[in-house]
Amino acid sequence: DMTEDDFEVPIKGVIVGNGAVGKSSMIQRYCKGIFTSEYKKTIGVDFLERQLNIEENDVRLMLWDTAGQEEFDAITRTYYRGGQIAVLAFSTTDRESFDAIPSWKDKVEDEVGEIVMALVQNKVDLIDEAKMSVEEVEEMAKKLKVKLFRASVKEDFNIEELFKYLVSSYLSKR
Ligand code: GDP
Repeated sequence: DMTEDDFEVPIKGVIVGNGAVGKSSMIQRYCKGIFTSEYKKTIGVDFLERQLNIEENDVRLMLWDTAGQEEFDAITRTYYRGGQIAVLAFSTTDRESFDAIPSWKDKVEDEVGEIVMALVQNKVDLIDEAKMSVEEVEEMAKKLKVKLFRASVKEDFNIEELFKYLVSSYLSKR
């Protein structure tokens, strides 16, 4: 028989970026509502999920985590497969992670083509230790033609808005 579940839209999201920018923390925060400052690299590719209702669509958003395997192309590429939305994440306190953003975007597009993406400057709670200027970040978003979110997984700032934007953009382009 027909249940509500029959109308659920499954969406696969991938979070990419250098190590330690807060990708796992972002997934934990969004799917479980928790944050831990303990730095723990988990092994193996895995995902967490969360249901949300957006514009009258029941969505099951599955967020995939590279779990510290960022440097292994063969692993990350299989993890992108089937991705429908992507977060390009860097850390406010890590210049290298910011400079690496264009190559992360290329890697995703090489595997899955042009999908809905957002640029996320995480750890804005540490803005006093920023290794890039506001202008540089805005320039990057403009150059890559992606919407920018300044966020803090730690303070739970802008994470809900980020995924709401990605999911509703995806739904409207379907
Ligand atoms: P990943 O390697 O990209 O998955 O990064 P993690 O999620 O493991 O996070 C790396 C470290 O940054 C951990 O110690 C987190 O607690 C910390 N972290 C994540 N997000 C934030 C944030 O918004 N602000 C601060 N201050 N620390 C954060």
